[in-house]
Amino acid sequence: MRSPAPAFGPQYLDALAVHAGREDFLSLGVHAPPIDLSSTYPVPDPDAGTASYDEMAAGGLPQGSAIYARLHNPTVARAEQAVAQLEGAESCVAFASGMAALSAALLALASGRHVVAVRPLYGGTDHLLTANLLPVRVTFAAAHEVRDALCSDTALVLVETPANPTLALHDIAAIVHAAGDVPVMVDSTFATPVLQRPLELGAALVMHSATKFLGGHGDVVAGVIATSEAYARRLRQVRILTGGILHPLAAFLLLRGLPTLPMRVRLAQANAQALVARLAAHPMVTQVHFPGHDGSDPTGLVGRQMRGPGSLIAFEVRGGHDCAVALMKALKVITPAVSLGSTDSLIQHPAGLTHRLLDPAVRAAEGITDGLLRLSVGLEEPDALWADLEQGLLAATICLEQEHAVV
Ligand SMILES: *Cc1c(COP(=O)(O)O)cnc(C)c1O
Repeated sequence: MRSPAPAFGPQYLDALAVHAGREDFLSLGVHAPPIDLSSTYPVPDPDAGTASYDEMAAGGLPQGSAIYARLHNPTVARAEQAVAQLEGAESCVAFASGMAALSAALLALASGRHVVAVRPLYGGTDHLLTANLLPVRVTFAAAHEVRDALCSDTALVLVETPANPTLALHDIAAIVHAAGDVPVMVDSTFATPVLQRPLELGAALVMHSATKFLGGHGDVVAGVIATSEAYARRLRQVRILTGGILHPLAAFLLLRGLPTLPMRVRLAQANAQALVARLAAHPMVTQVHFPGHDGSDPTGLVGRQMRGPGSLIAFEVRGGHDCAVALMKALKVITPAVSLGSTDSLIQHPAGLTHRLLDPAVRAAEGITDGLLRLSVGLEEPDALWADLEQGLLAATICLEQEHAVV
């Protein structure tokens, strides 16, 4: 079964976000998504149960009884419908985390075959692809090398844009073109469907760590893949076997986050835009990475592929590791933590945390220096955030002076 046709087109994304997955509320007589916590479902008619089981084993949705909660859950299905509509997809499949979604996609589409992965990638993604855990062969490539990296056995091209943590942008349509018949999966976690809809640009699958903006409140771990019903069936087949389905309480929290997604994304983006110039002008900051900032988007992807630059800023602090750490330690408002896309601003040190497990040579090649910090701007007033950053930058300045004094 495909998701119902959305009641609003993409030009009414706010209305879509508010109503998607909630179409039947009036007929149900509810105003919030029902949470179904059943671990098993009655099968009063065994033959009908068998038919339902067969359909789900083939990747479809239950015909009548859902049989068992690892196979299907109505609260999860509701969240899936909502995300599918926001991405303009036929279907969506939800997993217990972004990494569960990614590994299911690799197993479903590329088992025993070859994958081309465009770096830089989320640290966990990069590590999964190099860990030799899954039965896939991987070639890492820069965006312009995708065509040359393909072989007759390539089953999937994986790309992340904006990429983590340097916010490098990749041209989705160009990569789809280079990939030819090979499906392209875009990790669009940083952009959200508010700023970017990769399926409209020819991508076959779009994944999100819904732990980030989609959930949006720092209280849910979830992963989603929006795609065609044909690919969704293959993903569900893997999910049934490997057991990575999203928990219904997490699905409820995801549904709770979606109606405010567009306004959260827009406000956080405006706050980030207000901070970028101040950061760039500060003497302790040597470089600011922000989509569209300082000539970083020569082909004009912001405005064309992305509706805006988003709310993640990476910046490099003078004095390397020690001074970046000194800055983080001095902060009082911005939370030192990994993850992103929450209501509160979060800051982390990629070389020490999210990208720790990368080969140092890869880190260096991707510009993930020891002084690089990644800031996920939240919903606080930019002046409140700047006051916090300024005193953090002062601590970094003192750190640098001490370094020089020692030398
Ligand atoms: C967090 C993240 C992931 C992994 O998602 P989890 O929900 O943490 O498993 C994948 N890709 C990107 C871009 C992320 O930020």
